[in-house]
Amino acid sequence: MMENNFPLQDSFGREHNYLRISITEHCNLRCSYCMPEEGIALTPKSHLMTADEIIHIAKTFLSHGVSKIRLTGGEPLVRKDAKEIILQLGKLGVDLTITTNGILVPNFIETFKEAGIKTINISIDSLVKEKFNKITRRNYFDTVFENIDLLLEEGFKVKLNVVLIKEFNDNEILDFISLTKHKNIQIRFIEFMPFNGNHWDKSKLVSYAEVMETIQSEYAFSEIERLTDAPNDTAKNFKIKSHLGSFAIISSVTNPFCSTCNRIRLTADGKLKNCLFSNSETSLLETLRAGESIIPLIQQNLLSKKAVRGGMDDDQKFQNPDLFSKNRSMIAIGG
Ligand code: SAM
Ligand code: SF4
Repeated sequence: MMENNFPLQDSFGREHNYLRISITEHCNLRCSYCMPEEGIALTPKSHLMTADEIIHIAKTFLSHGVSKIRLTGGEPLVRKDAKEIILQLGKLGVDLTITTNGILVPNFIETFKEAGIKTINISIDSLVKEKFNKITRRNYFDTVFENIDLLLEEGFKVKLNVVLIKEFNDNEILDFISLTKHKNIQIRFIEFMPFNGNHWDKSKLVSYAEVMETIQSEYAFSEIERLTDAPNDTAKNFKIKSHLGSFAIISSVTNPFCSTCNRIRLTADGKLKNCLFSNSETSLLETLRAGESIIPLIQQNLLSKKAVRGGMDDDQKFQNPDLFSKNRSMIAIGG
């Protein structure tokens, strides 16, 4: 059915060379935009990918054109064999990155270096301790802040993911920009997206246009530099010219970037999702465990990929809870 080394192409000609692997559904935070307060029904351990299965599936993707892998979760660093997984993936010569809430970073500095990880994305939604602790429903603000500095001292490139929510942290946009003045970090403002159980509604969204408006209220047009976006970048990148760091806006809701999408996602229970917003999933794990080839399944999954946001191609569909609540909570997808 399939030639070896086929590019992972969908029916719109998009080539998928970027695999995001969730290695756990567990987390040491409880961010309200990511998971329901009562938690999620966790998959039994026997239905989750083992380290060997993760490496096997990763190798299959690498031999068919994937060149970048991001580890995510849940919180990837809470998994007991996270070090082993990171080190083994590091040996495969892939561009390896990770998204983490940063809490356990000090235990992994050497592992990251040995695996060749250069860039780390850390999620932090407020620079105010009480607000951070409120949205994460835990008490780790100081730890996360110290660990961001630790990563910078250790020479990593650090990107900070900030999910913007109206009347929660939209008044901190300029404070986050100020952070880029002396720290060489990238702030990534992310539009709040709808998932099962996260109480999304459009009135809580802070749009790309609103973020720019706020920044322009403080900085003259001539002070803001539009940077060149990397190919397939989901973010629009900018910089205040006199600042060391930069900022970016990810506008999946108001300005989706689906036409250049190169991503495919593997959940911790071994299901392939061709889009963050797609309800349909393909289990690779069952087939792998049955000793059969997973390649035809990968191809079928990609060929069923919709043009825009898992088929939620207009505002009305996107805002329809009947549609987005059929999807998993973000914590079980791997953002
Ligand atoms: N635990 C890690 C962390 O928080 O960085 C990795 C997993 S987390 C699901 C990955 C990213 O998804 C985080 O940057 C988080 O802010 C983002 N995220 C979660 N829920 C979101 C939502 N409803 N809208 C936009 N981004 C979301
Ligand atoms: Fe955990 Fe990350 Fe979700 Fe927060 S955003 S609950 S840290 S998985």
